Amino acid sequence: MKTAVIGAGIAGLAAAVRLAAVGHTVDVYEANDGPGGKLTEFSLPGGYRFDFGPSLFTMPQYVDELFALAGENPRDHFNYTRLPEVCRYWWPDGTRFTAPASTADLVRSAAKTFDVPEQAMQDFMDTAARKYELTGRTFLEKSLHKASTWLDPQVAYAMLKIPGLDLFKSMHEVHEAALKDPRLVQLFDRFATYNGSNPYKAPGLLSMIPHFEHHFGAYLPAGGMYDIATSIYELGQRLGVRYHFNQRVDKIERAGAQVQGIRVNSKLIRYDTVVCNMDVWLAYERLLPEAKRPKLTLHQQKSTSAVIFYWGIDREFPELGLHNIFFSQDYASEFAKLERGDLSDDVTIYVNVSSKLVPADAPPGHENWFVMVNAPADTGQDWNALTARLRSRVVTALGKYLVPASPPEWLERHITAERTVGPPDIERLTGSHQGALYGTSSNNRMAAFLRHPNFSREISGLYFLGGSVHPGGGLPLCLLSARIVADLVGRRDTITSP
Ligand code: FAD
Repeated sequence: MKTAVIGAGIAGLAAAVRLAAVGHTVDVYEANDGPGGKLTEFSLPGGYRFDFGPSLFTMPQYVDELFALAGENPRDHFNYTRLPEVCRYWWPDGTRFTAPASTADLVRSAAKTFDVPEQAMQDFMDTAARKYELTGRTFLEKSLHKASTWLDPQVAYAMLKIPGLDLFKSMHEVHEAALKDPRLVQLFDRFATYNGSNPYKAPGLLSMIPHFEHHFGAYLPAGGMYDIATSIYELGQRLGVRYHFNQRVDKIERAGAQVQGIRVNSKLIRYDTVVCNMDVWLAYERLLPEAKRPKLTLHQQKSTSAVIFYWGIDREFPELGLHNIFFSQDYASEFAKLERGDLSDDVTIYVNVSSKLVPADAPPGHENWFVMVNAPADTGQDWNALTARLRSRVVTALGKYLVPASPPEWLERHITAERTVGPPDIERLTGSHQGALYGTSSNNRMAAFLRHPNFSREISGLYFLGGSVHPGGGLPLCLLSARIVADLVGRRDTITSP
């Protein structure tokens, strides 16, 4: 079987490994000059290294299983450590909270810091675990668009339990009812942003997300996040996958209802199977102009995008950890602005400092700050103006948080290297429609069912994976999309082989 993978994002890389491991001849075509897509890296003058996109790594077992499929020991090629603390949170009223790694420690220390009884915290985390146990396998690990999924007794059981899964309340309503303390509610509301959603609209079912972080753990690869992409890429090389960088696919070709191959540089290259890791909206627009567009699916609300300031900082801040969140005063109005395609003046700021655990990422005595603010998807806003205003607010806000008596421009003096990336850059650099980080949002309770399926209903032999299709964005779900696609391709191979 000859297979083409379009795009070397995490999902494309993982699918290439899975298919090569079962005997496919696999070619990966990537428009950029290296692997990773959003999961890539770059340097700034002065000795600073940055991961371009993802900074939080959960569910590392989905990477490990790729090595196991190839008969290799993952620890020979890919290493990571579980973080002893997950995130440091800061509020405008002076509250600070360091979220410990395990659920039990989180429950205990949240009850000490916030106005919440330990039992209420425990019940909340137990409910998150139950939501995951009931729905994870069904909604995340299988195609939702195949009859076989719905005939599975486990799925039928999950459907019976739907009334208790908080699908009809928002995450915010669920958190308010369970946790009450507005700071703690804000902390848990933040998990909606893990897939680019709005906690005031996303269904309460998503309050299972913290269970991933605290039960399964948060991790960091030994050399930083980019290790994930390079280790899967090198594994593919060992399995014989051929990578074609700087090769943009222009079209997916079909012969009637059957995929025929791809067109690159005006040349048709024939394949039995085509696996598309390109953003699905742009794939229909550019590679499948004659195909019937699944309109409802393609017009779902985009996930949020981001403005990121990558700063080389000429001193160290012991009060910062690897992951840090500086909350806004008014979370509801921040999200209301995002819904209107705008940025609030009072924003929540995420600061990731990989040099805390990967010292080579910054010179001694310095730090590399990845400073990210949620932004709306690009619909033609004046990003130069928005980013300039945002930068000044962020410099002032972080300066005040870190040194309350400092003048507004204090932090500016410590920024020695800089790069800024906004939604149009994210679209240009990673081929993500409107710069959305996670494809479509989960801002309605049907979102899971409205993501594009992992296969084409019209063209046999064409499959879709990655953050813009089922089961959604974020590294773990992208890795699961590769698993689902490999399974669907395997079933097709079984039916079509003589
Ligand atoms: P992508 O990374 O989107 O890559 C698609 C690839 O396809 C690109 O390399 C592109 O060049 C290529 N391509 C497109 N069109 C063509 C074509 N026609 N021909 C050839 N190649 C083509 N996730 C987390 O889990 N944790 C985080 O902390 C996190 N933080 C994030 C922060 C930022 C700033 C960003 C941008 C994303 C973040 N994410 C995070 C989301 C995560 O990065 C994505 O969900 C995931 O990496 C998407 O992978 P993908 O497989 O869909 O492919």
